[in-house]
Order: sequence, then C-alpha cells, then structure tokens
Amino acid sequence: MRQSQLLMPTLREAPSEAEAASHQLMLRAGLIRQLAAGIYTYLPLGRRVLRKLEQIVREEMDHAGAQEVLMPAMQPAELWQQSGRYEVYGPELVRLRDRHQREFALGPTHEEVITALVRGEVSSYRQLPLTLYQIQTKFRDEKRPRYGLLRGREFLMKDAYSFDEDWEGLHRSYMNMYEAYNRIFTRCALRYRAVEADSGSIGGEGGTHEFMALAEIGEDTIAACSCCDYAANLERAEYRMEQTVTSKQEQEKEGLQRLHTPNIKKIEQLVEAFSLEADRFIKTLIYVADGSPVAVMVRGDHEVNEIKVKNALSAVTLELADQDTTERVTNAPTGFAGPIGLPIPVLADHAVMAMESAIAGANERDYHIGNVKPLVHLTHAHTGDYRNAEAGDHCPRCEEGRLTFHRGIEVGHVFKLGTKYSEALHAKFLNAAGSEQPLIMGCYGIGVSRLLSAVLEQHSDENGIVWPKSIAPYQVHIVPVSAKDQVQMDVAAHIEARLQEAGIEALLDDRDERPGVKFKDSDLIGIPIRIVVGKHAADGKVELKYRNDAQALTISIDEAVAKACEK
Ligand code: ATP
Ligand code: MG
Repeated sequence: MRQSQLLMPTLREAPSEAEAASHQLMLRAGLIRQLAAGIYTYLPLGRRVLRKLEQIVREEMDHAGAQEVLMPAMQPAELWQQSGRYEVYGPELVRLRDRHQREFALGPTHEEVITALVRGEVSSYRQLPLTLYQIQTKFRDEKRPRYGLLRGREFLMKDAYSFDEDWEGLHRSYMNMYEAYNRIFTRCALRYRAVEADSGSIGGEGGTHEFMALAEIGEDTIAACSCCDYAANLERAEYRMEQTVTSKQEQEKEGLQRLHTPNIKKIEQLVEAFSLEADRFIKTLIYVADGSPVAVMVRGDHEVNEIKVKNALSAVTLELADQDTTERVTNAPTGFAGPIGLPIPVLADHAVMAMESAIAGANERDYHIGNVKPLVHLTHAHTGDYRNAEAGDHCPRCEEGRLTFHRGIEVGHVFKLGTKYSEALHAKFLNAAGSEQPLIMGCYGIGVSRLLSAVLEQHSDENGIVWPKSIAPYQVHIVPVSAKDQVQMDVAAHIEARLQEAGIEALLDDRDERPGVKFKDSDLIGIPIRIVVGKHAADGKVELKYRNDAQALTISIDEAVAKACEK
C-alpha cells in the first residue's frame, strides 16, 4: 500500500477530549474518528487491526468447535418481554418502533434471540452439545460512554452461547471457552488475568470468570496472587487467615471500660484521640438485609464487603441503615454502634474475633467501650469472612503467595447461565430417557473493539504505538528518505514487491515529506518493522529497525527482506 493514497490522518497533538492513552493514540494515529458520543468510524488502519483481532477470535472459536452465525441487531420487543428483561434492562437498551408502531430493541446482547432460535431448531439430546457464536455490532446506551472504544454505545462483540443437556456438559463447554479465551488473549500479546467474578442475580450455579487486561485506566480492582494463578475481583477475593487467636482464659482477666468520646465517631478520629492504630478498633455498621437490621463488624482498618455479607445472609437486598433505623437499633446516633447489647443479629469478621482487646462503640451517644475481648464478649456473633481482601493478605490457594492489587479492563466474560433463558423462553429438548427438560446454557463474550483499546493501553511508548506483530495493521513500514530520489524509490518498490510475494503486508511511505515528519508518523503508527531506504540504497544497503528496539541495523536488501519475513 502506498501511504500517499492511504486515508491515515495523523495528528501531532492529542485532542483534548481524549483522556485515556489508548484513545489519544487511536485519534493521533488516524485509526478512528468519533461520530457521536461512544460511536466511532474505523478508518483504514483501525479497520485492519480490528479485522485481525476478529480473525484471531474467529480462529480460536472455530478451533474450539463453536459454529459461527450472524444474528440481527434489530430484535422484537416481545422476545425481551418474554425473558423479563424488557423492563429490567433499563435505559441502556436502545428501543425503537417500526412504521407499524411495533416495538423493537437494538441488541445489547443476544441471549433472547439465540434461545428463540435454538428452541425452534433443537429438540433432541442427539443435537447437543452445541455452541454458536457471532462477531457483531452491539448497542448499549451507556450512561457514561468514555475512553474511546473502551466504553462505547455501539461496539463490536464476539458473543457465544452453549447448549448442553446437563451441568457436567455445561462445565465442559465452559472450560472449552475458558481455554479458547486464554489462547485468544495470549495471541493478542495482552497481559491479563482470568478472575473469579461474582455471578450477581443472573448467575446460575457454578461460576463466572472475567478476563481482565491489566491497565491503570481499568475500572475494576483485581486481587491477584504474587505466586500462583489465583485472581479474583475485589468484591469476591478471598484470603487465608492467620491463626493469631489467643485463648479465652488468657483474655478473661479485665472487664470492660466505658470511655467518654464526645462527638468522636469515625475511625480516623478515634485513632487520633487514643493515639492507637486503626487495627485496635472494631468498626460496627448497621445494615438492613431484606428489611431486617443486622450489625456487621470488621476491624477498624478493614472495609466491609457487602457482597460477602449478602451471600452469607442469603439476602436479596442489603443496604446501609438510615439514621432513624440506626438510632432505633443502637439508641445512639450513627458512629457509636458497637457489638455489645445489640438486639439484632451480629456478624463479626474473622479478624475481629482474632483481636485480643479492642475499642468499640458503646451503643450510647458520645461513648465507646474499651477492653472488648471478642472471644469473651462476642460469643453471640456469627463469625465469617465479611471484609474486602487487602494487599498483603495471604493467598487462599498457595502457601507463599501474597495478594497484590491491580486495575483491570474487562475484555471478556464467561458465564454459566443454567436454565434462566431456556425456562423463560420454553427452549426444551427430549433427553435420552425421553422426557422433556430445559436446555442448560452458558454465554461467553469478548469486547473485540474494547480489546483493541486494551492492547493499546499496554503497547505504546512516548513516540506512539508499538503494535504486537499478531495484530499490527501492516508488518513492515518501508520508508524511503527522499521520495524525489529515484534510486531510493526503486529500491523501496523492489522491497515492497518481494514482501508482497512472501505474503507480508507492507506500507510504503512514498510521500514527498521531510524525513522528520515521516519518521514521526512511522513511530506513531507503530508498525513492528521499519526499513529505511536512504543514501546507501545505491550500494544495496538499507536500515532495518524494530519498533520496540532503539538500534537500527544497516544490512543488505536481501537480509532486510529475509528479516522482515521471519515469523
Ligand atoms: P461492563 O461491566 O464493562 O459494563 P458488562 O458486564 O456490561 O461490562 P458483558 O455484558 O459481559 O459486559 O459484555 C461482554 C463483553 O463486552 C465485556 O466483557 C466487554 O469486553 C464488552 N463490553 C461491554 N460493554 C461494552 C461497551 N460499552 N463498550 C465496549 N465493550 C463493551
Ligand atoms: Mg455494562
């Protein structure tokens, strides 16, 4: 491809609206242009990269035995009403009417459509297992579209759906996708972790993993082990407890102390007033779980993990109690709640029970109590893991590892759905025994356009993009220093022809620009190999430079072609 003909509008400066590094690079290197908030056009370079990502995804899906289909974006509202999601999905669902005033939605995901399809086409266990996928444009009217392709309103997703006759089958299909995802992200040269995620309200039994690209701009926090593979979303990260509990006898010596703490409500204020570390206090929070108040206690330096609390209580709703409820339950304003004498269920985190002696709220305005010995005074508490994991906690899976924290971008998601959609949409099959049962489903998404941004968050330097070879828009950038020099142009064209013969994609900068401009653009668009054809071209020598290397090699034309063809 000749660069003079290529629509590749590079920019010297990053447009001010772009906050994320990947978004800036995509605008500067002329990969995308915005049409409306969260809606983008892919220019030729961007389209080429997106195609490569699509192709990697497609190859690995095919390799895993999934079959490609293409489903419509425009979906009748009735389907969404049948699954119950027409209401639940809320304003993220793009809704429209046809000329007959029939309601439609633009698909944000395709569980409804695929379940309705399979309902009609699959009726026997002999047709199972089945995994179908598509690579297709999705619509979500996101509240805050941002960071370019990271959170778009129209974006490219690969979505796959598996259908099995039983849960063991689902597990096999799930692991098959899980492994395909590992291959896909590895081929894209992404640094990522597969994390255990919370299945929330749509989850069936069994599990869900999110694939997180590690990047500062990421919206999620991941706890990962320093030694083994363990990684989880903060909301469900576990850790191994240290055994530091002293015996009850040792603790029984002294009694409780009443401490006057006028207006001192927060842990930071207590730390200051008593000159003690936060880990010497018990933090008591009053929640309302499914309408009933409960108290949750964690150590002063820890944070309550509401998902763990909710799961422990098997509660559907959990929220912090309002001022009135707190006063009614504790007889004191917020800030003085404590474990002793509360008329409601009390949940105490393991770390609280391991404290020898602590200061806690007294359930009385302006008072705390000291010398609280959990093993003695909190025998009524339900002990469990109710806190967020912290950096430095012991890994729950291996001996030596400690947890470290990272920010992550969710690029993929695998999910055991179970029978949620097959039941709602009556997608049933006859099992081997001849009785009818709902299909057991899984769903598996990859944000293909988001993946492009995620790769860029990890692969750039101060001069621009540094594409991994597997998804670079071109493999080789041929740059004659002077477009007016016929020898240079002839050598460049000769290299281009030989690369083309070898099936290597090359871009030739034939523009009549200053060398500085050409090199700056070349660095910015980040093609992995650059061959500079300069004043030694007449002697058959050119310079070859890898984008991620500082040094250029002066070599013969043949050697340059050979290197450019290396796998
Ligand atoms: P998020 O928490 O980021 O909103 P999600 O849980 O809504 O993601 P899924 O419904 O699981 O995402 O969609 C599957 C995949 O599609 C995600 O893993 C992500 O990579 C991608 N994705 C989701 N929303 C967007 C978006 N607005 N723009 C680009 N990609 C997206
Ligand atoms: Mg979302």
